Amino acid sequence: AKRLGRNRSVGYRRQFDSHAGNRLRLVQELHRALEREEFELVFQLQFDADDRPCGTEALVRWRHPRRGLLGPAEFIDACEDSGLVLPLGRWVLREAVRHWRRLDERGWGALRMGVNISALQFQESLVEDVGQLVAELGLPRGALELELTESVLLANPVDAGRAMGALNAMGASLAIDDFGTGYSSLAYLMHLPLQRLKLDQTFVRDVGRNPDSEAICSAILRMAQGLGLGVIAEGVEAWHQLDWLRQRGCDEFQGYLLARPAAFDAVLERLGASPGR
Ligand code: C2E
Ligand code: CA
Ligand code: CA
Ligand code: CA
Repeated sequence: AKRLGRNRSVGYRRQFDSHAGNRLRLVQELHRALEREEFELVFQLQFDADDRPCGTEALVRWRHPRRGLLGPAEFIDACEDSGLVLPLGRWVLREAVRHWRRLDERGWGALRMGVNISALQFQESLVEDVGQLVAELGLPRGALELELTESVLLANPVDAGRAMGALNAMGASLAIDDFGTGYSSLAYLMHLPLQRLKLDQTFVRDVGRNPDSEAICSAILRMAQGLGLGVIAEGVEAWHQLDWLRQRGCDEFQGYLLARPAAFDAVLERLGASPGR
């Protein structure tokens, strides 16, 4: 029995080491991926209540030399734990803004470019980076929208509020991502300089089949209207969801029903001719 116990503990240790080893290898690979520019962005179009395109969200992908195109679920945690999310996030921001420029050249400058900001990234250097991009590229107000999660705001609401104010002053708008899934105090919403809530996909998915989720959606929509915030529903996959949300005053929609995340050229093709020409 004693021996068995020992073996077991050795077995456990090996498993643990191999997990840590895998993580280390992944982080090394990610470092190289940044140097070799193996990351790319795909873009998911967003639509207003009249079915007109109103924005796009930049989503990062890793074109892995052997494993093919990987989504953030495969690597974003490792990036956050290792701090790599800082240089990656900076690259994403610049690349997204560069693509907004290209949209503008095609006459689609009214579209917003949404960029996901990780918790670690939400600090003073982000304000500086955005300031630099705005100065360099002369972004008009509202062209860039930063998507923050509730946890970021909760960690330090006073500093978060100050940084958000500075970002707003430079013309970047701010959205709360995955809204309704975190634990943010609703009172903060009143004081933070915010433009939009992104209604989380889990609620949207349940529209038409779970009255509790519907109640949450209705409440969020009513509250946002009262506070003068826009709401974009995420993960819209069915017409009945879109109709239900639209009837309750939801402004904007994003989801596979309307557009899948796609390479930039495919997005341009989907947009077609310039608006109003
Ligand atoms: P998110 O910000 O909530 O992004 C929406 C995710 O939902 C995307 O997954 C998108 O492809 C997916 N999606 C869109 N429409 C639908 C739909 O109708 N149904 C379903 N089931 N899914 C839909 P993706 O691209 O795999 O990204 C996952 C998460 O990774 C993002 O969630 C975001 O938190 C993070 N992420 C993506 N790009 C970046 C980035 O550049 N920086 C950082 N820090 N995080 C990123
Ligand atoms: Ca997002
Ligand atoms: Ca989201
Ligand atoms: Ca999410």
